[in-house]
Amino acid sequence: GFRCGIVGLPNVGKSTLFNALTRTAAAQAANYPFCTIEPNTGEVAVPDPRLKELAKIAKSGNIIPTRLTFVDIAGLVRGASKGEGLGNQFLANIREVDAIAHVLRCFVDEDITHVEGKIDPIADADTVETELMLSDLDSLERRLPALKKKAAAKDKEAAAIAPIMEKALELLQNGKPVRAMLADCSPDDRVILDGLNLLTSKPVLYVCNVAEEDAATGNAESERVRAKAEAEGAGFVVISAAIEAEIAQLSDEEEAEFMETIGLEEPGLDRLIRAGYDLLHLITYFTVGPKEARAWTILKGTKAPAAAGVIHTDFERGFIRAFTIGYEDYIALGGEVGAKEAGKARDEGKEYVVRDGDVLHFRFNT
Ligand code: GDP
Repeated sequence: GFRCGIVGLPNVGKSTLFNALTRTAAAQAANYPFCTIEPNTGEVAVPDPRLKELAKIAKSGNIIPTRLTFVDIAGLVRGASKGEGLGNQFLANIREVDAIAHVLRCFVDEDITHVEGKIDPIADADTVETELMLSDLDSLERRLPALKKKAAAKDKEAAAIAPIMEKALELLQNGKPVRAMLADCSPDDRVILDGLNLLTSKPVLYVCNVAEEDAATGNAESERVRAKAEAEGAGFVVISAAIEAEIAQLSDEEEAEFMETIGLEEPGLDRLIRAGYDLLHLITYFTVGPKEARAWTILKGTKAPAAAGVIHTDFERGFIRAFTIGYEDYIALGGEVGAKEAGKARDEGKEYVVRDGDVLHFRFNT
């Protein structure tokens, strides 16, 4: 599955957020109990109101949401790239995630030490990013000479990788993260870049942790981060970890009441999970029947056979076609039969690119 790493300086609220996230998931996905894979890794249900609507129409016995993995990556301090604190372990953990949720402290609390001495989320973001850039710089500088030698000796693979490595290195030397080159990357270059397994080429989502009273509105500090996120094309979410921790312990009714009191429309965690999903360019398709209504995760752009492969490799190998109904049609026409009668059910073949919300039924050879 896809993994989103939670990073940030000490005392910004990472653990509080992670614990809330994993506790809420348990409540949300009764059929998919939250499971701790490792101490700091948790799978959370991706909230999707469409599932309930589909299950209502199909009279499905079960609702099974799709899942996203979060990893609480502790141990970043200034100097991590040089092995300070838990430096090396920290960097190794980041290497294994697909995207980074970067928690920034935007709450003032005199009782809780700020490692850098004052509240300044932009400076904190720079501190963390600098460590990641130094680590990438070091890694590329070590690998490039040998690669260039190979390229000069007519090694085709090395010759393809070298210019991309050089471009990445140039960005880092100018104090920019490697993700700055993603926008002009061809799909082939993108594969090469991903293969370099750098830290600063991963997509980033800034999570502003604000005080309870700012949860619904954000504050001046989170607005500064919003501007930064917009300029960089990064994701952005405002959340109060303390509130989320409280919400995670409430029953559904208590939760609705509590949120109305504080002016929140939905738990911040739901927004965070969805933002992580978007950041990874993930979309959802559904399988719906009397037994269950279930959501499945695929990358945007995935064709029908590979989408079927998420359910079972046999589905992909023996793929014949995908019986397809768009979500809106399924709901508007009262389900499969209605959609069929209205001509809104389609048989799609191997080249069909699955869309978000598609209700699919795969035909395959065994
Ligand atoms: P981590 O080191 O980033 O994992 O931070 P923690 O989650 O352990 O939080 C550090 C301290 O800040 C704890 O005492 C938390 O209770 C407190 N804290 C976390 N989030 C908030 C918040 O939104 N408001 C306030 N006032 N305190 C918070």
